Amino acid sequence: MHAVGNFIDGSFLPAQSGKTLNDFDPATEKIVATIPRSQTEDVESAVAAAHSAQEGWANLTLEQRANWLDKIADALEEKTEQIAQTESMDTGKPISLARRVDAARSVSNFRFFAEFGRQQTQQTFQMEDALNVVHRSPVGTVGLITPWNLPLYLLTWKVAPALLMGNTIIAKPSEITPLTAHLLAETVLELELPKGVFNLIHGLGPEAGQAILEHPDIKAISFTGGTETGRIVARTAAPMFKKLSLELGGKNATVIFADADLQSAVEGAVRAAFTNSGQVCLCGSRIFVEEKIFKQFKDLFVENVNAIKIGNPMDETTEMGTVISPEHLLKVESYIRLAEQEGGVILAGGTREMTGYNGPDGVGAFLRPTVVDNLSYTSRCATEEIFGPMVTLHSFTSEQEALQMVNSSEYGLAGSVWTSNLERGERFSSQIDSGIVWVNTWLHRDLRTPFGGVKNSGVGREGGQWSLDFFSELTNICIKGSNGN
Ligand code: NAD
Repeated sequence: MHAVGNFIDGSFLPAQSGKTLNDFDPATEKIVATIPRSQTEDVESAVAAAHSAQEGWANLTLEQRANWLDKIADALEEKTEQIAQTESMDTGKPISLARRVDAARSVSNFRFFAEFGRQQTQQTFQMEDALNVVHRSPVGTVGLITPWNLPLYLLTWKVAPALLMGNTIIAKPSEITPLTAHLLAETVLELELPKGVFNLIHGLGPEAGQAILEHPDIKAISFTGGTETGRIVARTAAPMFKKLSLELGGKNATVIFADADLQSAVEGAVRAAFTNSGQVCLCGSRIFVEEKIFKQFKDLFVENVNAIKIGNPMDETTEMGTVISPEHLLKVESYIRLAEQEGGVILAGGTREMTGYNGPDGVGAFLRPTVVDNLSYTSRCATEEIFGPMVTLHSFTSEQEALQMVNSSEYGLAGSVWTSNLERGERFSSQIDSGIVWVNTWLHRDLRTPFGGVKNSGVGREGGQWSLDFFSELTNICIKGSNGN
């Protein structure tokens, strides 16, 4: 167990109050670290450090900052195994997943934005008698607040473009998964990134997080987390006219038409449902299947779900580890009980029993992947975000009915559509109220594309140009008498 500090002005520091919080491994339920329980005064120190660093960082060229991003990527890549092990321990996710997804993507977030930054050209608009030149400047000190499901992956997705565009950072990772953010702070310290450019504050959302939202010198908030927290973020930051990016919850649909390749649709639906124990905001937790193949799909789906190897997250062959915490386990289980009360039929899972492993001491937040049939698509289990290894199955008879069911959700983050008719795939997808839809695949990402949701899933987009736009301010300079030559 080690004591993690805040990272302020290039130094690791305890909370000024001296208070700490415990960080647990959800597979063993043991304390693995303590973190500072930061308050307003810690955020104030971090903002003061960021302010002192702002001008120097903004004065570097884009190329120089892109080079910094590459250096960080290289250093993180060397720590791939350490990142994967740390993330697996902190979240309970399988080590293979932590390597393949969390560690790899954290590196590629920095590499991608470095390269993308270098490709930027200045925008100009020529008029008959004047030239408009669009200048970009940093927003200033920005607050980055992130959740527990993909801790370093989601943090670096914000840190890389924010640094690239010349901003200084106050980052707050989830108090449940603080360790890889600490590792990032250690990395930038080793690389001697200018002091105060990247600052890290640990602590509880309503305390440290809220202090970040409220600080008048933090000019933008990029938040990823739950919809209810998103409301608090918007309520606090919007009246201060801070720039806001809100990436919130989801209740995503997987839609399978009868003409789909059944085997790949089943495999895709299983992956979409249970990757990271169903704790990816993009997970497909409502599965709509065309009536004609419903029974066939259901049998094969359940067979595949029952074959998922659950167990010790550190075991190389484990495919599903724990959920994030014992508290979250109870929440997901309460939905399983609710499903039964609502008339649902549990086709798979529903229990904590493992196929061979329940943590070294028979403890741990392990739950079998759970499939529920026979519930209305309007039931609570099929409409509320559970964010765990539990999905509901529904059948439809026409494209129109499927669309109506999918769009009945108050969320609109992502979805996947499975059909051999690609024209229908695109047409149907374009009618789903959602920021991202995949056809015949899931979580296939090109980092240049827009990422974000509609309805209760959020406001704004991240990715490629959208991230650069969020982390910069534009000034249009109209020069009369210039013909642009
Ligand atoms: P959460 O909203 O509880 O917490 C997210 C972050 O906000 C944490 O760092 C937390 O400490 C902080 N926070 C909490 N209260 C705060 C406050 N009052 N002021 C400022 N910060 C505060 O979410 P979570 O449980 O950590 O994550 C799960 C949720 O995140 C799910 O709803 C999931 O769908 C969503 N999510 C969305 C995306 C996306 O891209 N749309 C990605 C991943 C996760």
